[in-house]
Amino acid sequence: MGIHKFYLNDKYIILDIASGSVHVVDKIIYDLVDDFENMTKSEIIEKYKKEYEEELIAEALDEIKILKEEGLLFSEDQTFLKEHYNEANIIKAACLHVAHDCNLSCNYCFASQGNFKGQRELMNEEVGKRALDFLIENSGNRRNIELDFFGGEPLMNFDLVKKLVAYGRKIEKEHNKHFRFTITTNGVLLSDDKIDFINENMDNVVLSLDGRKDINDCMRPTVNGKGSYDIIVPKFKKLVEKRGDKDYYIRGTFTNSNLDFSEDLKTFYEEGFEKTSIEPVVTDEKEPYAIREEHLEKILQEYEKLSKDYMKIRKVDKDFLFFHFMIDLNQGPCAVKRSVGCGAGSEYVAITPEGDVYPCHQFVGEEEFKLGDIFNGIKNTELRDEFKSTNIYTKKSCPTCWARYYCSGGCHANAFYSNGNIKEPFEIGCKMEKKRIECAISIVANEM
Ligand code: SF4
Ligand code: SF4
Repeated sequence: MGIHKFYLNDKYIILDIASGSVHVVDKIIYDLVDDFENMTKSEIIEKYKKEYEEELIAEALDEIKILKEEGLLFSEDQTFLKEHYNEANIIKAACLHVAHDCNLSCNYCFASQGNFKGQRELMNEEVGKRALDFLIENSGNRRNIELDFFGGEPLMNFDLVKKLVAYGRKIEKEHNKHFRFTITTNGVLLSDDKIDFINENMDNVVLSLDGRKDINDCMRPTVNGKGSYDIIVPKFKKLVEKRGDKDYYIRGTFTNSNLDFSEDLKTFYEEGFEKTSIEPVVTDEKEPYAIREEHLEKILQEYEKLSKDYMKIRKVDKDFLFFHFMIDLNQGPCAVKRSVGCGAGSEYVAITPEGDVYPCHQFVGEEEFKLGDIFNGIKNTELRDEFKSTNIYTKKSCPTCWARYYCSGGCHANAFYSNGNIKEPFEIGCKMEKKRIECAISIVANEM
């Protein structure tokens, strides 16, 4: 039970935490709502009578009362799950590391420039095919299986990608399943043939680019130390155009050297990319480019600026999207999803070139997080159960956090790399997430 209120982008907004109802209200309701549950009507009138006429106060209180009676304000919290999440241990999605090698040398790469703290290695056909079999065997009664071709850089092992798409199409028929393929690429090796294959076979494409040329080239140099922007942007444009401008994301990363990242989003738009995302770098805070507490204030202001720029662009181009500002205020049917988040370690796994299974790509190479392998199955069931039981009811700070049903408990990898423990959220990440949610809600309020 509880509310969260904020003023942003010229709107007074009250969020009813448990029901997820969002109310765009007049200032008087915004002011009074905090006292509604704790004071009598006459006490509230007494408190606010210098600011508002008595009649208006009474009307505002009536409105709040109606919202409460309708279950849209001060609603009771419900427990959507606890023990019963994914009892059958169904795997719905996987990140397939077809190449632990890369042709860029990005400074912040969690994959340690492509080799994930191990040998540079390409997945072979036997492992790739076995990985697809493993996913079918573990998909239970689910028909759709999501598979992301990932790296390092998956285009460095593109022949395997093609073979696995063909293999997937063959076995999905035999088992009445359907693979939904995605590829995540840095674009350097894109050619016309590859673009055509990707556009014909991938349900979604994630294209890595950091925004402005100087920012991108500084963080994402080639192995020879040259900038990558001029190599990849024309290729991305071609891919997106041939794809009909749909089902893709341009995905950037910001570090402390581009805390003005709203400018990078503008660059995406100016280059003609409409489906966009920019994420804060995930790294050890000792790294020179890391996001630290001292950067937080500027970042929160920047998200607000970004929300204003975003609304301006969307006035002329409704198709322009920024991933973190897309919010479903009706929250869709999946209450469990809202409680458990990404599903890493249980519904979602990463598979390495050797066939080892980890909770997600961010944990690959951390031996203690190895769940098992595709030949012998998930052996570390204790670890899987730990991931399964890590949710908004069990993570530190989440049970009382106003943002829990939108954030779903944050990223386990962020938690682990900042606090050494998946159950303790990354605090700076929480503050950024809350600001993004406020921005997203205020955008919907303005576009309503
Ligand atoms: S913002 Fe942080 S505390 Fe709140 S739900 Fe997300 S991870 Fe948990
Ligand atoms: S743990 Fe973090 S990085 Fe891994 S899948 Fe979940 S949200 Fe993504």
